[in-house]
Amino acid sequence: MREIVPPSPAIVRNDQASIQEQFQRNVVPSYGRFPLAFSRGSGSQLWDVGGRRYLDFASGIAVCTLGHSNAEITDALIEQSRKLMHVSNLYYTAPQGQLAEEIVNRIGPGKVFFCNSGAEADEGLYKIARKFGHDEGRFEILTAFNSFHGRTLAGISATGQEKVKKGFEPMTPGFRHIPYNDLEAAHAAISPATVAILIEGIQGESGVTPATPEYLLGLRKLCDERKMLLLIDGVQCGHFRTGRFQSFQRILEGHPEAAGFLPDGISMAKALGGGFPIGAFWLRQPHGDLLSAGTHGTTFGGNPLGCAVALKIISVIERDHLAQNAREVGAYLKTSLIQLMNRFPNVIKDVRGYGLMIGVEFHTNIPAFSGSDRAVSLQLINRFHEAGLLTVPSGTHTIRILPALNLKRNEADEGLAIIEKVAATLSA
Ligand code: PLP
Repeated sequence: MREIVPPSPAIVRNDQASIQEQFQRNVVPSYGRFPLAFSRGSGSQLWDVGGRRYLDFASGIAVCTLGHSNAEITDALIEQSRKLMHVSNLYYTAPQGQLAEEIVNRIGPGKVFFCNSGAEADEGLYKIARKFGHDEGRFEILTAFNSFHGRTLAGISATGQEKVKKGFEPMTPGFRHIPYNDLEAAHAAISPATVAILIEGIQGESGVTPATPEYLLGLRKLCDERKMLLLIDGVQCGHFRTGRFQSFQRILEGHPEAAGFLPDGISMAKALGGGFPIGAFWLRQPHGDLLSAGTHGTTFGGNPLGCAVALKIISVIERDHLAQNAREVGAYLKTSLIQLMNRFPNVIKDVRGYGLMIGVEFHTNIPAFSGSDRAVSLQLINRFHEAGLLTVPSGTHTIRILPALNLKRNEADEGLAIIEKVAATLSA
């Protein structure tokens, strides 16, 4: 019998091994993927193709802000797609204007341009900086060491990490890196050609490092004095993750000198569409009018489908008080993780972050990891996967906790129990 029944085709078997094998044959191998293939999700839960359930503390790297398979997002997608999916930016459509207004209302007087990704949103900020300084011959943008601004050629040039640049030299000219949270260094780095400073509100890819209030305020003052633009990359840390729409609003909360603080430009993507690809940048007036007709564009930018989804997400976040939930559940997670650090001081070194953007830094000399030359963060992620929890590495020895903003307290407890179990094993 075994000889005469042919094996099921890969598409029907659809298991982990055949999916991986299909990738190996057909997909550009530019990602270091974990050996997991997912087939469905619901809220903060994901199931792999073998039917195993995982708790998702990654949410697609800070993307799936309402969790997986959210019925209201699905409805918004279906409803809009029945009406109109795409007409191009040769014409007007209502959702684009509405979404721009929602963003402006949450930041300050300005204008919004829509694109498709974070790298593209940052690219718009580089172009704005160039346009702003063009007549004076200024073009240089200062960005921070350990920053991340995407994988386009200008994105890797802006990113302050050598590993993303390697093999792609020469870099796009006009970017120089400065130490993060160091005002003196920013002052000292300015040249006659410098036109802007671009930083993340919270650095996400190199260990979860928030900007200090003094740094944000000091950069604003410096940029005003030197007629430069202050640009903030809010791609990962934005969109209510910290408990406010933008991370700088949260970081500056209650600071006596923060009244009226605004950057000149902010990039967004990731959670804006909750999994539907959409990016944007906001520009403070009068800079919102710098890009006149014909100077910038993209085919899919601001298409009605993406904008309808993004509008729905903002309305659900506000209706269900999810920024407050990010604040409360985030504070609970952070406090509990600090308690774990105090219990396992030889394993966990530090816990940082705001709201539901938390970095847990581990020691580099944990004996269980010494036998491998793989980064501690990657070995940790594998341990968490084995225990049923998805988190994201950040740099060499930090993991990021970036769950959906509607994470429930009992789900936070479930994740904490897994982290505790892994920490206890590593401490033994
Ligand atoms: N900026 C930051 C801070 C990011 O974290 C990322 C992606 O991780 C990007 C830009 C690039 O976004 P995308 O991958 O959508 O191009």
